[in-house]
Amino acid sequence: MNCKRLWWLPTLVLVCAVPEVWANRLKSLVYDVSQNQVHFSLSSDVEPRGALLSNPPRIVIDLPNTEFRGETFSRTLGRGVQALRVGQVDATTTRLVIELSQNAVAIDAQDLRLRTAQPGEWVLYLPRAIAAANAQIAAPLLWPAQGELSSPFGWRIHPIDGVRRMHRGIDIAAAPGSPIFAAEEGVVTEAGWDDSGFGNRVEVRHPSGKVTLYAHASRVLVEKGQSVTRGQAIAEVGSTGRSTGPHLHFEVHLPQEGRVDPLPFLPMPVLRFDLGAS
Ligand SMILES: [Zn+2]
Repeated sequence: MNCKRLWWLPTLVLVCAVPEVWANRLKSLVYDVSQNQVHFSLSSDVEPRGALLSNPPRIVIDLPNTEFRGETFSRTLGRGVQALRVGQVDATTTRLVIELSQNAVAIDAQDLRLRTAQPGEWVLYLPRAIAAANAQIAAPLLWPAQGELSSPFGWRIHPIDGVRRMHRGIDIAAAPGSPIFAAEEGVVTEAGWDDSGFGNRVEVRHPSGKVTLYAHASRVLVEKGQSVTRGQAIAEVGSTGRSTGPHLHFEVHLPQEGRVDPLPFLPMPVLRFDLGAS
């Protein structure tokens, strides 16, 4: 504690400046791809400082007097926005880094806007070059269900046994009984019950050699050997197999690489990020 003695008063007065404690927290982070905006919310009204840097091109936003409790957060997106990272850069600053595609040339700092609509709510308007870079990547697959992305591809603590495991697909939380769509045209290679934990599942082989898998269905609507069209309802969302609630577990298998992150194959309208302990 920093105290100054003020002697000019008849009695001793101590003026104390209490060190600033963690006043602020990053509460949410959303990348709205369709609007070309990054939204974030803070628990109190501090002023973020943004900068556009080159080599590699990136937007850095420092949040003063802000604590980030989680491990450094990092998501690779591989589009106009290559990656998003959040971490604690020094004792009192949380830093949000938005790595931009090298292809998104001609990024103009004038084209970058950071605005607040209400206390703690911030919107970063990304440069138009980012939207253009996103638009160049045609998403080959359809979203196989309507709902929120509830668990991404990658390492996670498994919700059933609490063990750290690789999650080799994405989970889409959706209403039970809602349709599961074939992400691309193809031929059904598996349909029905699977004992390994997928419950009722459908597997479709596509002309490109890619295979997609749809698990935990309540009902399967197709048969092995059947041809399906892109967007055809092939099953209904359920919670069969190793599952804690209604959702679709969706996988993409590539001929050489095996199971890969499906997200880069899907159109991404809005991405909400789970910042963990923060
Ligand atoms: Zn899953």
